[in-house]
Amino acid sequence: MSHIVVLGAGLGGTIMTCNLRNRPGSQHRISGRNRGRHYHFVPSRPWGAVGWRERRQVDLEPVFGRRDNALCPQGAERLDPAAKPA
Ligand SMILES: Cc1cc2nc3c(=O)[nH]c(=O)nc-3n(C[C@H](O)[C@H](O)[C@H](O)COP(=O)(O)OP(=O)(O)OC[C@H]3O[C@@H](n4cnc5c(N)ncnc54)[C@H](O)[C@@H]3O)c2cc1C
Repeated sequence: MSHIVVLGAGLGGTIMTCNLRNRPGSQHRISGRNRGRHYHFVPSRPWGAVGWRERRQVDLEPVFGRRDNALCPQGAERLDPAAKPA
């Protein structure tokens, strides 16, 4: 079993994380590492301002949890490919 870490849980990263889980035979551990636990799509930000969305509705944790994926909201500090186990 592999541990797949998707960097960023914006538009691309969230779709990628969900699609990886939906692939037939995918029993791998899948995590999304994002800066923060809320979904941000820039053009939709005014929805919050005018009350069309509440903060809990853009909480990523339930979305990831429903698919048995983990969310790490601490953000990545650096990539270190040389340290990857063989
Ligand atoms: C003003 C504006 C208006 C736009 N209007 C439209 C529109 O009308 N229609 C449209 O289709 N597109 C629009 N876009 C473009 C759209 O927002 C982007 O194309 C899209 O969000 C890009 O997706 P992405 O996944 O590459 O990046 P993002 O959605 O930006 O996601 C990047 C993610 O990476 C995370 N991240 C950053 N640093 C780290 C780190 N160190 N570790 C872990 N995670 C990290 C961030 O928290 C974020 O969640 C607009 C963009 C802007 C700025």
